[in-house]
Amino acid sequence: MIYFVAAMEIDRVKIGHTAGEEAGPRIAALQTGCPCDLTLVACLPGGLRVERELHRQFAAQRFRGEWFRLSGPVREFLDATAPAIVGSAVPSLTYGLLAFWEPRLLHVERTVRIAARSAEGSERACANELWFETPDLDTAFTETVGWYRQRRHRLEELDAVLRSVEAHDVAFEHLYGLLPDCRGCEC
Ligand SMILES: [Zn+2]
Repeated sequence: MIYFVAAMEIDRVKIGHTAGEEAGPRIAALQTGCPCDLTLVACLPGGLRVERELHRQFAAQRFRGEWFRLSGPVREFLDATAPAIVGSAVPSLTYGLLAFWEPRLLHVERTVRIAARSAEGSERACANELWFETPDLDTAFTETVGWYRQRRHRLEELDAVLRSVEAHDVAFEHLYGLLPDCRGCEC
């Protein structure tokens, strides 16, 4: 599991990984000998290779070793994944996290938003129809995340996450939720 532990007073965050299921003991160990209060701000699925990938991605914010400046892309990443976070020591998936690993979801999102806008102001709207009858929407979605994913993330670990039922459901719930509620249809 990957953990993000922040020293808020000095705007630094440590991105590390632990083999265990809980970040708690690791943070307690880090806190010993650290003058700042440390706060667990995020837990994500993954091990050493995912950790390295994150370190590479945030290289411009690197302060020293596993410590990074809590600003720019690091801050944006944490904001996007925030619901995965706070107070929870169990890694969980969020749409923001999935879109970070698989940016093609953002193209699907754009299509969904255009479909939603097309129904604005009309008396009848059907979320189901919009989802399944907008050309390429459902196909593009299923090829991006879930069992029928057609892509391959270069990190096997992340590819497995993107193929999971949970990833499919989290992304679907978010994207479908952008469509208007059904009105005047037979659903
Ligand atoms: Zn409907």
